[in-house]
Amino acid sequence: MQQVFTKYIIVGAGLSGLTSAYRLYQAGETDFIILESRDRIGGRIFTKNRIDFGAVWFQTHHQQVVGLLEELGIAKFHQYSEGENVLVYSTMAPAHYFRNDPNAAPASRISGSSMAMIEALARSFSEKIKLDTNVTAINVKADGLQVIANDTAYQAEKAIVTIPPRIVTRITFSPDLPATVTEVMKNTHTWMSNAIKIGMTFAKPFWRDKNLSGTMLGQVGPVVELYDHSDHLDEHYALMGFVNETLRDTSAEKRKQRIMDYLSKYLGNEVLNYLTYEEKDWSKDMHTSCETIKSIYMSPQYGHPLFEASYLDGRLFFSGAETAPAYGGYMDGAVLSGNLNAGKLMTPLTPRHPLKGG
Ligand SMILES: Cc1cc2nc3c(=O)[nH]c(=O)nc-3n(C[C@H](O)[C@H](O)[C@H](O)COP(=O)(O)OP(=O)(O)OC[C@H]3O[C@@H](n4cnc5c(N)ncnc54)[C@H](O)[C@@H]3O)c2cc1C
Repeated sequence: MQQVFTKYIIVGAGLSGLTSAYRLYQAGETDFIILESRDRIGGRIFTKNRIDFGAVWFQTHHQQVVGLLEELGIAKFHQYSEGENVLVYSTMAPAHYFRNDPNAAPASRISGSSMAMIEALARSFSEKIKLDTNVTAINVKADGLQVIANDTAYQAEKAIVTIPPRIVTRITFSPDLPATVTEVMKNTHTWMSNAIKIGMTFAKPFWRDKNLSGTMLGQVGPVVELYDHSDHLDEHYALMGFVNETLRDTSAEKRKQRIMDYLSKYLGNEVLNYLTYEEKDWSKDMHTSCETIKSIYMSPQYGHPLFEASYLDGRLFFSGAETAPAYGGYMDGAVLSGNLNAGKLMTPLTPRHPLKGG
């Protein structure tokens, strides 16, 4: 087995892991490696055809994301919400049309897509990211940790594991983690791992000409939420939304047919003239999800206090959106946990048997 030596290891190149790496790099610490199982960075942030199939929105109270974007010099813009929203609350009754409350704080999006934040974070240390590198074991050794991925043993002083807690349980730890920690991890739902998104691009934002905002809400149809997802320059037009999970196991062809029938009924036949149509079912992506998914619509309680502790002789920390003490599950929680754990990583180890006297 090949041996690689480094001071710090970060497992996972999602928002949390990249935030920690960015903080290490800023502090002048360059002796680290990031191990990522996917063939791309970003984790649950994933943009294709300018459509964010993962995270999109943040609010003014998400100060970690707001602050990070300012630091990175990335602008934000408001979710498009001019015109009328469509609420489909019954298959028997006509749709209800309504406008957003002008006093409500609008959700913000990241200019250039959510991936712009990920790319800006990773820019200065991209050569330290090892893609297609699946961590399977973490062992305590005499002088540090050994992290096994593919056919390589990475030796480090300390490590941060930033992957969703439920799939951390796929990793073998030696010595074992306390049973209470493993139990908490198994019971921590991975936020949005059950979501199915669709994204469509268009030559023109035809819905705006009809005085529609592009927002469609309602649990009774094949699309439960839909939004205008045009870019910040208003040059590329798109609709993006969430598919009703009852269609998860329907064939791709039938699902698309039902989606398009539904959208054309409420938005008009112009929706059929899409340039691109794509879906992403996160439950089928094993880098995020696992075999036993749950459909959860309200954000569960995150940030269990057990995630604040260190493990394996004080050398291992758990990070990521689900571990965050505030705004768990969201991008804001991912950034917060990334910041906190970079600090923990750089704090010198406390000697277990301090020498007495001078
Ligand atoms: C459909 C969807 C919509 C969302 N919408 C929003 C939104 O609008 N606003 C918001 O704030 N948040 C939203 N979120 C949540 C947001 O995406 C997450 O909070 C955030 O991206 C999590 O970052 P993370 O780094 O904690 O975890 P992740 O992004 O999951 O990163 C973990 C990384 O670890 C890697 N990994 C997994 N296993 C291993 C292994 N064994 N070895 C090595 N690497 C491994 C993964 O590939 C991944 O890159 C959404 C998420 C989804 C899926």
